[in-house]
Amino acid sequence: MKPIYVDNNATTRVAPEVVEAMLPYFSEYYGNPSSMHTFGGEVGRHINEARARLAALLGASPEEIVFTSCGTESDSTAVMAALRSQPDKKHIITSRVEHPAIKNLYEYLAKTGYRVTFVPVDGKGLLDMDFLVSSLSKDTAIASFMWANNETGVIFPIDELAGILSERGIVFHTDAVQAVGKVPIDMRKTRVDMLSLSGHKLHAPKGIGALYVRKGTKFSPFLIGGHQEKGRRGGTENTASIIALGRASEFVAAHMEEENSRIRALRDRLETELTRQISNTFINGDRRQRLPNTSSIAFEFVEGESILLMLNEFGICASSGSACTSGSLEPSHVLRSMGVPFTAAHGTIRFSLSIYNTESEIDLIIEKMPAIIERLRAMSPFWKK
Ligand code: PLP
Repeated sequence: MKPIYVDNNATTRVAPEVVEAMLPYFSEYYGNPSSMHTFGGEVGRHINEARARLAALLGASPEEIVFTSCGTESDSTAVMAALRSQPDKKHIITSRVEHPAIKNLYEYLAKTGYRVTFVPVDGKGLLDMDFLVSSLSKDTAIASFMWANNETGVIFPIDELAGILSERGIVFHTDAVQAVGKVPIDMRKTRVDMLSLSGHKLHAPKGIGALYVRKGTKFSPFLIGGHQEKGRRGGTENTASIIALGRASEFVAAHMEEENSRIRALRDRLETELTRQISNTFINGDRRQRLPNTSSIAFEFVEGESILLMLNEFGICASSGSACTSGSLEPSHVLRSMGVPFTAAHGTIRFSLSIYNTESEIDLIIEKMPAIIERLRAMSPFWKK
């Protein structure tokens, strides 16, 4: 059975065009780009073409792109670079709803002596801007705020944040892992200093990411080693995956405008129908400032994991809003920070669409969901009809 894959914020299918582009780099172009010979040098040129393709997607210069192994490495590199280049500053700030790649790094840094501020969000997942501004000081080394939330799709006001932070000379990093390829990004118009992205969220393979570093930003490498990436990231280049990311950048750019309206319409229909047909069901997060592909839907008084298992029987692959920690199913920190009631956070499902989803797939989800929820609620001790 072909899966109905609506878990694209977890990872995406590698586009066939992207697979095709990367294959020669396993067989034909296997030279080391750092080698002196022409065979290796040619690979180096292709890497730089891929860099230019990714830069074009971001409205950046190719020299501002550093290839990494994943979004997590890009996030760590950005934060650590900002801290190492400003050793006297001991305050760092982020939001309460970041991905663990930032959240856990900040929690670790708190244990090593940094003063950490986690800015709260409201019930819609939007940042408390007054709290944020009043927390900034001359001691703030870096502010890291995600472009778009991986669970709810809620988009933070990046331009406004960039204005506030650049006025105060604070390094601004954004984890744009969920935004790149889904919404237009133009670094010429936004004063972000560093931006993280990850290939596997935009139809390139897993194991490749990139960090945008604005020209003039103080930087020190996280992976210390060879001279690769102009000394900004040691390690022999993951050539095939870099080529793939370059090709994927073109792929998403070419389809973004047309596909975004199609995907948004599918997502909106899914939400409209599920909330109409199933009682005690609501959408988590702000519905306007949101990625077009993401829907976080709370079905009250049922367990998300049970919903996922039943969806799985129909080949429907989605995600829940819980994290399985030490045997208990804890609602995610994102939903908890938004104040989503426990009974709703527990029953939250994330549907995340891509270019490959079709209308008939969405129809099938709409057809199956009401009976699944009814069956589970009939078994739930908390459900009162
Ligand atoms: N940041 C966000 C917002 C994400 O959604 C993810 C992955 O889900 C990451 C960072 C980590 O990216 P990677 O899996 O490439 O390390």
